[in-house]
Amino acid sequence: MVRAAGVHPPRVAALVVLLALLGGCGQDMSGAPSVVSPGTDPSASQSVRHGGSGGEGQVGSPTSNATATEGRTGGGSPGLVTPSRRPVVGAAPPPWLGTRVLPRTADGFGQRRPTPPELVQRRFTLPDRLPALPGTGFASRVRTPAPASVIRRSTWQRGCPVTANELSWVRLTFWGYDDRRHTGELLVNRSAAKDLVAVFARLYDTGFPIEEMRIARRDELEAQPSGDGNNTGAFACRPTTSGSSYSQHAYGLAIDVNPFQNPYEKGDLVLPELASSYLDRSRIRPGMITPGGPLVRAFDSVGWSWGGSWRSLKDLQHFSANGR
Ligand SMILES: [Zn+2]
Repeated sequence: MVRAAGVHPPRVAALVVLLALLGGCGQDMSGAPSVVSPGTDPSASQSVRHGGSGGEGQVGSPTSNATATEGRTGGGSPGLVTPSRRPVVGAAPPPWLGTRVLPRTADGFGQRRPTPPELVQRRFTLPDRLPALPGTGFASRVRTPAPASVIRRSTWQRGCPVTANELSWVRLTFWGYDDRRHTGELLVNRSAAKDLVAVFARLYDTGFPIEEMRIARRDELEAQPSGDGNNTGAFACRPTTSGSSYSQHAYGLAIDVNPFQNPYEKGDLVLPELASSYLDRSRIRPGMITPGGPLVRAFDSVGWSWGGSWRSLKDLQHFSANGR
């Protein structure tokens, strides 16, 4: 994690916002925006869970369910909840998600706060932003280079350590906590696109749940930290700090998965700031990444390593091609 000290003041502000916004990443940055989309109201989520998902393909149970120790543990499925029964805690996003701004610390992050009860068993999936990919199983589409329209809504800008032509736009399907098939997107280094598709194909078979997968926008960099973001993302470009090195995310060679369930921790710092409940790794809940579990194995199969195995700090959400 790059600190703001020694950076020129205008950049401090921008960087601090970005750091707080993008969640945790050990030696680098995370793609975990905290801003909540308009589609995060609980009623929208309910309608998805109870059918009528607006054209999104509904499929049966994922295969290899029993192997998904990371993904499908932790109690009853939201999909089994009937409207007449009390909702499962954590199965719908609280209405305040992404709206409660945190005071900043001297380091520029949001103040660490206890995890709100609504998020201790976090297991909702936000509505898709993209049309569903056809089919009922795993599906992916890769476009290289990424379309200009996609680059424009990303954090890419001139001065990033990769050119726009070096990035691929990957769309793929994943399992939500709602036991449904979803379609998300990643912006990744073109050299990594094929490997990441292979990883997510494996994950799909395990049923590992993901809350949200989309490309972080540049305007999100200006948002105040709310400490409750949980986006799964890869490419995130930020300015250099006094010429120091870029994050692997700025090359599209790192990805953060379910940052809230898999926070970054260094000393007193926890990112996302409200995710401290998930520092207790003995209490396995859906979406958590575990040593030797399906997520670590899937990334290991393409040579990517896990920030959860670092010693100086833990970046539990982070996987990268070069181990940094
Ligand atoms: Zn990361």
